[in-house]
Amino acid sequence: MVNKLIGVLALQGDFAEHVGLLRSCGYRCQEVRNIHDLDASDALVIPGGESTAIIKLIDRWALREPLVKRIESGMPVFGTCAGAIILARASSDGEAPLGVLDISVTRNAYGRQTESFEAEVASPHFDGALKGAFIRAPVITDVPPQVEVLAEYGGDPVLVRKDHLLASTFHPEIAGETRVHRFFLEVVCSSN
Ligand code: GLN
Repeated sequence: MVNKLIGVLALQGDFAEHVGLLRSCGYRCQEVRNIHDLDASDALVIPGGESTAIIKLIDRWALREPLVKRIESGMPVFGTCAGAIILARASSDGEAPLGVLDISVTRNAYGRQTESFEAEVASPHFDGALKGAFIRAPVITDVPPQVEVLAEYGGDPVLVRKDHLLASTFHPEIAGETRVHRFFLEVVCSSN
């Protein structure tokens, strides 16, 4: 994916942190706000933020159908926190997610903003614990066998992968953790 252009959905949320992290790692990326930006992107990051607001904006700018089509035809996507909710098949409440990743999520499962925390997340797929910020994070409640759990925290899946789709309930980009984005670009995107 070295020469590929990574889109970062920039409708709401912490898209600037993803862009900053990707650029600091040497990847080419652009903010995605419309169908033209999406068409020009080879892969997509959906940031954290407020999933209800992001889904409303996706629908307002008529991006749902093109997004689902691109994802179903193999565009790699990494969703963090609200981004994971947006990819999910089912969410406990709020707007209807895209339904492209076969997981169910319960929103705000760790409590309010003041109960947000940083944690070390152990994963056999990475050398040493991953650093992650959990900010009004969801919990993934249902993971069918075809979805791979790459990391757990407190017994819950927090990083999952199904083929070209990667989702974390935590924010690596806020904790200064680059390895999950590198994994997305160098493993998930490259295995397509
Ligand atoms: N609580 C938010 C939601 O439900 C997600 C928070 C986040 O992305 N950090 O959409």
